[in-house]
Amino acid sequence: MPKALVAGNAGFIGTHFTGYLLRLGWEVVGVDNFSTGKRENVRIYAGEKNFTFYEMDITEEVPKDDYDYIINLASPASPKKYLSLPVDTMLVNSIGVKNLLDLAKEVGAVFLLASTSEVYGDPLVHPQTEDYWGNVNPVGPRSVYDEGKRFAEAITMAYHRYDGLPVRIARIFNTYGPYMDVADGRIIPNFAYQALTGRPLTIYGDGSQTRSFCYVSDMVEGLFRLLTYEGLDGEVVNLGNPDERTVLEVAKLVVKIYGVPENFTFLPLPQDDPKRRRPDITKAKRLLGWEPKVPFEEGLRMTLEWYREVVDAGKRTV
Ligand code: NAD
Ligand code: UDP
Repeated sequence: MPKALVAGNAGFIGTHFTGYLLRLGWEVVGVDNFSTGKRENVRIYAGEKNFTFYEMDITEEVPKDDYDYIINLASPASPKKYLSLPVDTMLVNSIGVKNLLDLAKEVGAVFLLASTSEVYGDPLVHPQTEDYWGNVNPVGPRSVYDEGKRFAEAITMAYHRYDGLPVRIARIFNTYGPYMDVADGRIIPNFAYQALTGRPLTIYGDGSQTRSFCYVSDMVEGLFRLLTYEGLDGEVVNLGNPDERTVLEVAKLVVKIYGVPENFTFLPLPQDDPKRRRPDITKAKRLLGWEPKVPFEEGLRMTLEWYREVVDAGKRTV
């Protein structure tokens, strides 16, 4: 069975991706520094014989082993988190990525980079195709993440072009589901926590900005195919659900599902918050035979149920 290193395994997507690989019988080594990830997410797999974990900051060291695959999910991903960890975010996406690329080169592993739709910035092309170069403010507050990820993509392609390293880049669009920390700061956990605790839902701007939300099981399947399918070295692929919703629509759905009164507060729109976002997934369909299967209402119900259990159990607080 293949052996994989999952960097950022204690985070939201990492928790699901680790479980997916272990269920296939793969040997999984996780590495995380818990900057945004959770120890309890690592404990889920602690008893599994094919799972090993290292608490390390990948900008400083990486666990060496003979991997077949290296998946890099390590990076703060929520605006709230990367704005509070600006330099760490830039370093994990530069030095951290370089350290993993060097390891991949040394052991001959396939390398998958989790990039982001944020490389398109506040896009002037809609929906976003992989050949769009983006509209990023290089000195705005979000640049620590956006430019960090753009650097991560550039260095990944440099190792591919100049060293022949087998690399693949996933541009992940907004993904949601259980195990996104309730205090993460992104829209779904914020709205869930607020609705469950009788607080007003914080809508930034007038709520007319859009996002397209992908349920995490669909994302994990897409990432796995991009990682393992033959003939994809050097490919950059959008992964996400093209079902586009306004922020206000999401708020209304959350209160409807929880059956609580509509209680919204409108706050200023954060600087450079993208106005519209929807992936064009033609390339993912063609190369991976992949498209999301879980409808938004269904995924949202499952996710909100999970947040209800977490908040009821008082397991996590904001
Ligand atoms: P997350 O914050 O839940 O997980 C990131 C993990 O990386 C955390 O466990 C964190 O502790 C770890 N990490 C950060 N810096 C590290 C370092 N220096 N050394 C070791 N570990 C480190 O975020 P997520 O939503 O699971 O996102 C995973 C990846 O996918 C990120 O790279 C993110 O940029 C990308 N992505 C996610 C989304 C989404 O909607 N979830 C969208 C676009 C891109
Ligand atoms: N948002 C909001 N209220 C919140 C959290 C987010 O209105 O409490 C909005 C945010 O301004 C953005 C969208 O929801 O337009 C998605 O934000 P998120 O932080 O989840 O991710 P982003 O796509 O901006 O990285």
